This record gives sequence, C-alpha cells and structure tokens, in this order.
Amino acid sequence: MPIVFLMYHELEVEGRKLIQSDPGYVRYILPLETFRSQMEWMKKSGFDGLSVGEAIRYPRQPSVCITFDDGCETDLIAAAPILKELGCRATFYLTAGFLGTPGYLRSEQVQELDALGFEIGCHSMTHPYLPDLSELELRREIADAKTQIEQVLGQAVEHFSCPGGRYDRRTLEMARHAGFRSVANSHFHANSASTSRYELGRVALLRDMPGEEFAAVCRGNGLWKKRLQDRARASVRWVLGNRTYDRVRASLLGEHSN
Ligand SMILES: [Zn+2]
Repeated sequence: MPIVFLMYHELEVEGRKLIQSDPGYVRYILPLETFRSQMEWMKKSGFDGLSVGEAIRYPRQPSVCITFDDGCETDLIAAAPILKELGCRATFYLTAGFLGTPGYLRSEQVQELDALGFEIGCHSMTHPYLPDLSELELRREIADAKTQIEQVLGQAVEHFSCPGGRYDRRTLEMARHAGFRSVANSHFHANSASTSRYELGRVALLRDMPGEEFAAVCRGNGLWKKRLQDRARASVRWVLGNRTYDRVRASLLGEHSN
C-alpha cells in the first residue's frame, strides 16, 4: 500500500515569534491547533504515524509518514508532545548549521527528541539549493552536515531531505556516498516499495489547507493535481534558473521559497 509522506516546518505557538515573517515562509507554518487537529483526525481515521525509517519498510496497516524540515525549536516544544500523546512517530530533519541559533533546536534539545524515540534526519548544513553548488560545497552540505549531527546524537543519521526540495543526480550520488539510506524531496506523490529510496516524494502542508484536503492527502487522493501545478512551476524554474525564479516569484506573488 502506498504511503503519503507529510512535510511540516515550524509551528505557530501563541505568544511565540516565528523565525521569519515573510509570506513565503508563513505559508508553510501551521498554527499548533491545526497540527493537533490533523494528527487527531489521522489517528481517529485509523492511520498509524510513522518515521521515515519505519515507513520505507512499507508496513501493511494504513499509515502516514510524518516529517519536519529545518530543525525549529517548535519540533520539540510543540510537535513532539502532541505526537507522543497520540502515539505517533516522526522524523525531524535538521539543518546542522542552524542548531543553537535563535528559534532552532539546541544540541541538548536534539538529544531530547532522540530520547523521546523520534528519528533525527539531516536537511543540509546551511539550507542552500543543492543543484547550484560545486562538488566541494555539496560535500559540506551533505557529508559534513551528517557528521555534525551524528556527533550530537552519538549514532548514525540515515535520512536526508533536500532544502527547497531541489536536487539533481550529483546530489543523490553524494547522499548515497555519504551513507544516507534515503533522500526525501517535495514532489507530490505517495511512496511505495517500488519508489527509489533516494527520491521519496512528500506533501508540504500549507497553512490554508482545508481539513477535507488534509484527509484527501493522507489517503493519497488528488495528488495528481498538485503534481501538475508543481510541474508547471518546475518548467518555469528550469527556464529561469533557481535564483531568478525565486526573485520573479517573490515579486509577483509576495513569496519566497522554503
Ligand atoms: Zn527547509
């Protein structure tokens, strides 16, 4: 049975300032209560919440894989208690170079997430678009970031997610070479045993996503529509290049890429 991988970011907690305030960032930020109701719906509907390591074994029971990108402090103080309460697992992909900076997890908080039974993954060193980098830069963003998080955890980090969902052949080769067992992007498709572990699709949760749409996403329904929109965006990006694309998109839509 195909499994949908969900992609969350920072959560909005009352009385707490978000790390960034531009519309392109906030678009991906869910209020804590929205996250809670999504997780409650998921459990009530009979889905198990899995980490990436569990999900890529593709168990038979209906499941959803839960992932968080960037390594924000709200992973521990907001998401983890809800996940724990509902008996869900999840994978938190950390940006190694952001650890300990304002709004992001500190080393001891990463250890705490690990001790709570959550899986820790890697989301690069400094969050660049990986296809734009030289070989040397790529090594630092993928292999060195892995080592840095492993030094915090004292154990292997096996899963990687691409900043902004961007990757190319070199990126995947570097990740494989560094010892990662999987790489997740943000293409809108569910994954199954026949999906390459180095091209796991994920569905980004947007702040304004209606409850019915969340339910459809968990069931893997209607992802083809998102895929079409995504393909149209990707072809424009291919023509313009990543940086120009972001500038154009930001000026037209008041957005930045996450
Ligand atoms: Zn990110």
